[in-house]
Amino acid sequence: MKSRSKMLKITGSKIAKKIINETMLHFPENITEYIYKNVWFICSFDDAWAFTFDANDLRGRKLIFLSDQLFEQDQKQMMYTIAHEVGHVILGHRNAIYKDQSKHEINLQEKEAHKFAKRYLN
Ligand SMILES: [Zn+2]
Repeated sequence: MKSRSKMLKITGSKIAKKIINETMLHFPENITEYIYKNVWFICSFDDAWAFTFDANDLRGRKLIFLSDQLFEQDQKQMMYTIAHEVGHVILGHRNAIYKDQSKHEINLQEKEAHKFAKRYLN
């Protein structure tokens, strides 16, 4: 378990790192392995106001952005939200940045991500 968390790419505060790592412990190994290889978690830092990275830094990884407000919620909510976002990645969902999505597609993706989070956190 300890060696697993070392591989996770997270920029963020101590609390963000702690909660993200704890959430990862709920997933089976094939999911965590995938996340470690393909996802980068971005949160606010304790010791910096800003951070710059470019597409080469990402090397095709997915970014999961977690807001400061999330880390003001209770732990259950934090972990649920992280698991929900992991669900979007694992389920191969797309977002509306380059192409509009129908309400139906958005609702379906949200439902699937909720189901994914519930499955692993309950
Ligand atoms: Zn969602």
